[in-house]
Amino acid sequence: MSNFTVSARKYRPGTFDTVVGQNHVTQTLKNAIKKGHIGHSFLFCGPRGVGKTTCARILAKALNCENLTADGEPCGTCHACVSFQNHQSFNIYELDAASNNSVDDIRSLNEQVRFAPQNGRYKIYIIDEVHMLSTAAFNAFLKTLEEPPSYAIFILATTEKHKILPTILSRCQVFDFHRIGIKEAIVHLKDICRQEGITAEEEGLYIIAQKADGALRDALSIFDKVASFSGENITYQDVIDNLNVLDYEYYFKIIDLALENDLPGALLLFDEILVKGFDSHNFLNGLSEHLRNLLICKDPSTIKLLELSEGTQNLYLAQSSKTNMSFLLSALNLLNQFDIQFKASKNQRLHVELALMKLCHIPDVLQFAESGPGPEKKKLEPELQLRKPGRHGENAIIIVEEPKVPVSKPAVAPINAVPTTPQVAVAPTPNPAAPTENGQPYIAKKPIEVDITSGFTLDINKIKENLQQAQKAAAENQAQVAIEFETVDPALFEKAWQVYLDYIFKKKLVALHTGVKHVTPDFNHERVIIPVNSPIVRNMLVEQKQDMVDFMGEKFGIKPFILEVTVVQASEDEAPKYMTDSDKLKKFREKNPAFDNMVKKFDLRLDW
Ligand SMILES: [Zn+2]
Repeated sequence: MSNFTVSARKYRPGTFDTVVGQNHVTQTLKNAIKKGHIGHSFLFCGPRGVGKTTCARILAKALNCENLTADGEPCGTCHACVSFQNHQSFNIYELDAASNNSVDDIRSLNEQVRFAPQNGRYKIYIIDEVHMLSTAAFNAFLKTLEEPPSYAIFILATTEKHKILPTILSRCQVFDFHRIGIKEAIVHLKDICRQEGITAEEEGLYIIAQKADGALRDALSIFDKVASFSGENITYQDVIDNLNVLDYEYYFKIIDLALENDLPGALLLFDEILVKGFDSHNFLNGLSEHLRNLLICKDPSTIKLLELSEGTQNLYLAQSSKTNMSFLLSALNLLNQFDIQFKASKNQRLHVELALMKLCHIPDVLQFAESGPGPEKKKLEPELQLRKPGRHGENAIIIVEEPKVPVSKPAVAPINAVPTTPQVAVAPTPNPAAPTENGQPYIAKKPIEVDITSGFTLDINKIKENLQQAQKAAAENQAQVAIEFETVDPALFEKAWQVYLDYIFKKKLVALHTGVKHVTPDFNHERVIIPVNSPIVRNMLVEQKQDMVDFMGEKFGIKPFILEVTVVQASEDEAPKYMTDSDKLKKFREKNPAFDNMVKKFDLRLDW
């Protein structure tokens, strides 16, 4: 490992044919060079590390090459090629717009463009990260781009095409570079291994390519890192240890355990993963990815989407054959829900454990759904049988879904809402691709509802949900109280009270009317307090309570209130216990001024 050069530089392609994964670009460029149809400006767009700058350099070299191959490749041996390869060419300029993005930088570039090349045909300007140019710099550059001298060629490169001004875009021949596929990256890595005399397990290279996520440059730097650690023999274990990647073996085990309803096993395995220091959210996502791979194996036409080594691919095919579509779709569905809720969860370990519990329970639910909700449940078989695609309709896919958690809005929750029981909608859907027997489009049947918690050995889930229900119910009860009684508006009530007195009088409730007609109601928030001076009146009024509430509501829009009828001792001056006749008369006259008027009008004489 002396004289170590990073692979990305050491193995930077020098010809179009050696560029990895951008055939659509290199082929077009070669054809253009062969035919001599060269535009004045190119724009190379695409993610980082996929070969934009490399292609720009090869194009620049080819344009000035004195001895092009018949295929349109630069020869690599002529004076122009050699001087470029030795970084001595005066005709090819590279500008990194990320650090040279001012107007002055572009102005000096514009100055340079004015001078024709001393030797060679073209002056070529490669501007990397062109989206980083300031607006002023862009505008200064636009003029040159609009009317370039015949010898000037611009190759612009960017990772962010959407940031390029339309005026620039319209003047360039645009090439979109692709992310590098895992298989392409592996082929390239293998090639480097061969040249370096390194042996590497394909599974290990797969992990490197996967980690690079489409950027070949990253794949190469990860490769360098692993190679510097493990020397001339790169194993799968080296790679996962070095890159802190969870062994896919764990995912295979988890799914096997789920298929066997082995919840304790799954929980123990998850514990082992945590002990190793792996992140639980990454594990959840990795498991989803694993299920996706199993799903892909189900159809011969999608197996090619599985970018795996042959050995691993066989493992996937084997496990996939043990599962059915219902299980895979249900599990993916479930994990997706748990992924979405992960960040909100306070106890993330429990959250993932809950996901595993439900995952292990899916085969039960599916079995239950298939055998029908009979009173006695069959002894569950360790794993689901893969249904053979037979007659139409027999190949049913059942999807188990997470119960939808309603958004909690306790204040406006309908009072009569049925507490949500954890249910799963199980829709008997035939293979959607397959037409039904009579060729009619398939019409979805009403989903059968199956309780996902039935048959749970470890019912933590159910307990949790029951607790949630209880809390919800409590919140609703509170809401109910608040809805039924509201603070009474005294002014409105007093107005209504007078009308109510007339109303009971007309209803011939004379005794009650007499008992309450001089009463002044009192208020305390949602309570209306009616003080009466006898228990008989109180009883009569209490009997009329509902009628009164209805009356007040209908005629005056008064919200339901709490009626409190209290019996008070009449004060001494108002109702002395023993009154003389003249006292009674006096009191009577005070209360009924009309009496005195009558006495006066008819000149009556009162004889008591
Ligand atoms: Zn050449």
